[in-house]
Amino acid sequence: MKTWREECAVIGIWNHEEASRLAYLGLFAMQHRGQESAGVVSLHENHHIHHKGLGLVGDVFSEPDLIRLKGAAAVGHARYSTTGQNLLTNAQPITAQLLNGPLAVAHNGNLINAHELREKLQKEGSIFQGTNDTEVLMHLLSRHPSNDLIKALQDSVVQLEGAFSFVVMSHDRLVAIRDPYGFRPLVLGKKKNAAGEWAYVLASETCAFDLIGAQFVREIEPGEIFWVDQQGEHQLMMDRKVSRKARCIFEHVYFARPDSVVFGHSVYESRKSFGRYLAKENKVEADIVVPVPDSGVPAAIGYSLESGIPFELGIIRNHYVGRTFIQPQQSIRSFGVKIKLNPQSAVLQGKRVIVIDDSLVRGTTSNKIIGLIRAAGAKEVHMRIAAPPTINPCYYGVDTPHKSQLIASHQSVEEIRKFIDADSLTYLSLEGLFAAMKAKSDSFCAACFDGNYPTPLHGLDRISP
Ligand code: AMP
Repeated sequence: MKTWREECAVIGIWNHEEASRLAYLGLFAMQHRGQESAGVVSLHENHHIHHKGLGLVGDVFSEPDLIRLKGAAAVGHARYSTTGQNLLTNAQPITAQLLNGPLAVAHNGNLINAHELREKLQKEGSIFQGTNDTEVLMHLLSRHPSNDLIKALQDSVVQLEGAFSFVVMSHDRLVAIRDPYGFRPLVLGKKKNAAGEWAYVLASETCAFDLIGAQFVREIEPGEIFWVDQQGEHQLMMDRKVSRKARCIFEHVYFARPDSVVFGHSVYESRKSFGRYLAKENKVEADIVVPVPDSGVPAAIGYSLESGIPFELGIIRNHYVGRTFIQPQQSIRSFGVKIKLNPQSAVLQGKRVIVIDDSLVRGTTSNKIIGLIRAAGAKEVHMRIAAPPTINPCYYGVDTPHKSQLIASHQSVEEIRKFIDADSLTYLSLEGLFAAMKAKSDSFCAACFDGNYPTPLHGLDRISP
């Protein structure tokens, strides 16, 4: 049995003459959510036209591809998968020809009970193309007796457990669905088309709207099924009640782009506020505050403002290297830190340095960075993490390593301090994290930090990756 974990971006466009180009640009803005494959499906005269490929959005699509993706509606996806699953068959949107016509599905999140549903469907004769969990939805829809896609979706999505923000396109409508916990973001925007009518845009993050010039309208609500067709927009709520909301706090800690507004909060402001609380919770004498770029920058600004200690770019990032974490093997990742981040002695020499990062997962990055900062002449290095210790894997769509590789799950803060070779190490407290966001803890999922998983795990916690 395998686990399926997805970090992804989804986008949908309706009623715009350049739908596939807008989808492409939206995916480009959300490239940080997934770098392994990208795809766009357009709707032209009741038929779907597809283009998918492995790699970055900018490499997967050429001008002739976008010209071929004709039509006034489109759905797109960018995917990051875990090791061993980088297959074109898993690239999305996934597509099928159902009795009622073509269907394309783009999914962000992770279905906790996909393996059970999949096994049941396979025993009953369903043939799966790849190993991703999204195909389960396609099979549930294909077997549904109703001709009405919305009815079929309503009955199918209530069987799914876990995190899902779906954008679905048929021959006559574009649908958005968000699980009742609201784990992953999904937002609705509007933009005028050439005829002066409103075009609809759905996206994982608002940074996609900024690039394509769409206005933010609202979030798709947790548990909402929203669709747009020739008659206009429609909305209903899934027939599934849950006891709490569980928006992913890690979107604010690390995953989302800082220029996005996620779950109604500016990600940049959240991160700055995490830094302020970090400074409030633990004081240390130092000369400069230095972020680990880019993910530690907003928190370091907040820390510097709160503590009055000057902010300095003591580590310079090479922007032509991808996120180090993306490299699948430990050896490559360690090497990656060196090629990506360069501490500069002109800033660090003889200084007492506070280094700020957004999170500490395996500890490899901090260990390497501190070694390089010391080599650049720093007198003291105080590591500050703008999130609580990561002690549990995520089963809802953020790719975190197995518990055994999460350093804080089996080592104390003092042991981690020694491992990363810092003069001191502190993390933001859980209370500080929520206070910084001015949010109630039961409206967010912080299972990676507190182990409080909002859903049953269906045995996923017993599977080794
Ligand atoms: P490490 O402690 O070496 O495993 O890596 C920690 C760094 O990885 C942090 O600086 C984060 O910016 C980044 N990071 C944390 N979680 C993730 C994730 N799920 N995917 C990609 N990068 C991450």
